[in-house]
Amino acid sequence: MQDQAEQRTDINTLGEFGLIEHLTRQFPLENSASIKGVGDDAAVIDNTGFLTVVSTDMLVEGIHFDLMYSPLKHLGYKSVAVNVSDIYAMNAQPKQITVSIALSNRFSLEALDELYEGIRLACKHYGVDLVGGDTSSSNRGLILSITAIGQGTAEKMVYRNTAKIGDLICISGDLGAAYLGLQILEREKQLFLSNPGIQPDLEAQNYIIGRQLKPEARMDIIEMFEKNQLVPTSMIDISDGLASELFHICTQSGVGAFLEESGIPIHPDTELQAIKFGLDPATCALNGGEDYELLFTINPKDVDKIRFLPDIYIAGEIVEAKDGINLHTKGGNIHALKAQGWRHFEG
Ligand code: ADP
Ligand code: MG
Repeated sequence: MQDQAEQRTDINTLGEFGLIEHLTRQFPLENSASIKGVGDDAAVIDNTGFLTVVSTDMLVEGIHFDLMYSPLKHLGYKSVAVNVSDIYAMNAQPKQITVSIALSNRFSLEALDELYEGIRLACKHYGVDLVGGDTSSSNRGLILSITAIGQGTAEKMVYRNTAKIGDLICISGDLGAAYLGLQILEREKQLFLSNPGIQPDLEAQNYIIGRQLKPEARMDIIEMFEKNQLVPTSMIDISDGLASELFHICTQSGVGAFLEESGIPIHPDTELQAIKFGLDPATCALNGGEDYELLFTINPKDVDKIRFLPDIYIAGEIVEAKDGINLHTKGGNIHALKAQGWRHFEG
């Protein structure tokens, strides 16, 4: 019997329409707002009474992901997660996605099934319907573009440019792990390339590698806002590192910030691994990327609504623009924060 993993069906055997039908057959529409999904010239969505929120991301092989260490199923899941994260960052609910792919015949049908299985799992988890997309060819690499569509209300929509002086700066979870996870995967890849006989030992780094390969969007935080009748004054998802995202909020809102290093949440595994790499854990949290936590500000009168929540960390305060954007270090120094961002995953 042939091993499942070795089976390789050429995508050309199905033809374009056969391929689309095959890939989308396990995506029933679940949301009442999804009127028409795959199969017509366009999807039809009924957002009566809601504002429509739209966000797109494009992922290019060799730039945003490396298939040597990103299993296709994880890639599918992550590409949906990072898109719905942008919708949550508006305090809105994602409802539909479209998925566009460009691929070469380097990819078998089985490989695409893995990708779509990850997409399907993420759709289920975040409650979104796959309602369309496009399928095209590329010379070699895989290109994946996902658009997420969501619903929000004018009263609850949260923008980047509305932080106010005196607001508290909050973070939804620990930072820096995804960046270190990538460093480990890159290191193991180099070791493997120089000696394919060596099997990587990644067990001890489960947490940080998981944060890189299988990030979750913070759907639960948006639900918590709803439950506690809390509307943040501004919000952004942390895709490029805390420093860079805080700069976006401050620049767009015309304010400054005072950030406490001691308030930045860092997982113990992240701390250990950073030190092993000779890096400062706080720098990884500030300038690493891809954690997909939410950075938001709240009016201080709302502090009781979040004070006792385990996953919310208060890490500073919004100040006047003239006071700049500063970091108060654990050592007691105050210095201007730099928004280095994270260039690794940008073209
Ligand atoms: P058109 O020629 O009108 O662009 P297509 O043949 O590209 O139509 O697509 C047919 C249907 O399949 C459309 O509903 C489209 O949204 C959907 N579709 C195409 N490619 C994908 C894909 N990779 N994933 C999900 N849906 C897709
Ligand atoms: Mg098309």
